[in-house]
Amino acid sequence: MNLDSFQGSRRNFLSKASYAVGGAVLLGAAAKKGFAFQSGVAKAAAPATSSAMLDQARLAAAKTPIQTTKLTDTLFLLQGAGGNQVAQIGPDGKLLIDSSFSTAAPHVTEALGKLDSHPLKLLVNTHWHFDHTDGNAAMHDAGAFIIAHKNTRTRMSMPQDILAYHLHLEPSPAGALPQQTFEGNETLYFNHDELSMAYIDPAHTDTDIYVFFKNANVLHAGDIWFNGFYPFIDASSGGRVHGMIAGADRLLAIADDQTKIVPGHGPLGDKAALHKYRDMLASVAANVEKLKSSGQTVEEVIAAKPTAAFDPVWGKGFLQPDAFTAIVYSTLS
Ligand SMILES: [Zn+2]
Repeated sequence: MNLDSFQGSRRNFLSKASYAVGGAVLLGAAAKKGFAFQSGVAKAAAPATSSAMLDQARLAAAKTPIQTTKLTDTLFLLQGAGGNQVAQIGPDGKLLIDSSFSTAAPHVTEALGKLDSHPLKLLVNTHWHFDHTDGNAAMHDAGAFIIAHKNTRTRMSMPQDILAYHLHLEPSPAGALPQQTFEGNETLYFNHDELSMAYIDPAHTDTDIYVFFKNANVLHAGDIWFNGFYPFIDASSGGRVHGMIAGADRLLAIADDQTKIVPGHGPLGDKAALHKYRDMLASVAANVEKLKSSGQTVEEVIAAKPTAAFDPVWGKGFLQPDAFTAIVYSTLS
């Protein structure tokens, strides 16, 4: 990594560091189709405009098919360009968790149509991010009543800036907004299952919930969990690494050894895999915190390679080690 190439302020450095992986994190599809940077901050290209990134992500999503994995007789994992989705089928109609990109809607609709003949009735958002809610309006048009945490509706109703990506988002259209919100916990009885939904204190954002299908023993973790690679933490939306660790602990307390756990991004997982992720986060946070509290700048902390022990396993995904270190640093007070 060549730190000399960064002449700007620390904030500029952080922005570039985060942007180096930014397309890949929030806008996974964009990363695969032109915003993927090969390694770390040193190869960061000049930031694209917000609209170019969004256009690129939507374009990629339009071309990405949905892969469907059966979890139980009534639950299915849908994986495409956006965040992981879960569909529940049954006599009450279909329930969907997260809506991916707007341009993925034809693929999602096709995938849902193959599951059974009942109409789509409910959509639950795990948090406000674009790659989980951009398809809301299309799913609402298809018949879905939308439920989310109160903060998800609030953030979707107003312009948002994700500084790590130089990303500015206009308010979502009215048809995309959650129609029912909650603040703490909510329970849904649907298709002979009990869905426990609960707010997680600021972690990936300040809008995160989990959704637990009690009878099926399937847990959607939202973006509290990136399975197999360093997670994005959105400081602009109130995200904090210590919240991520506490959130992972909440999920671990719910799950047993048989629970199928769906991460926001990455492959289907289980309690053992979530535990490894939680321990990685805690170790990295402790390493970065120790260096930051001793007065080191973000450049100095990155140079000290506080993630080194974890990079062979966790550093090959969306976020390169240097960028993840910068993000963790930025969320520590
Ligand atoms: Zn997210």
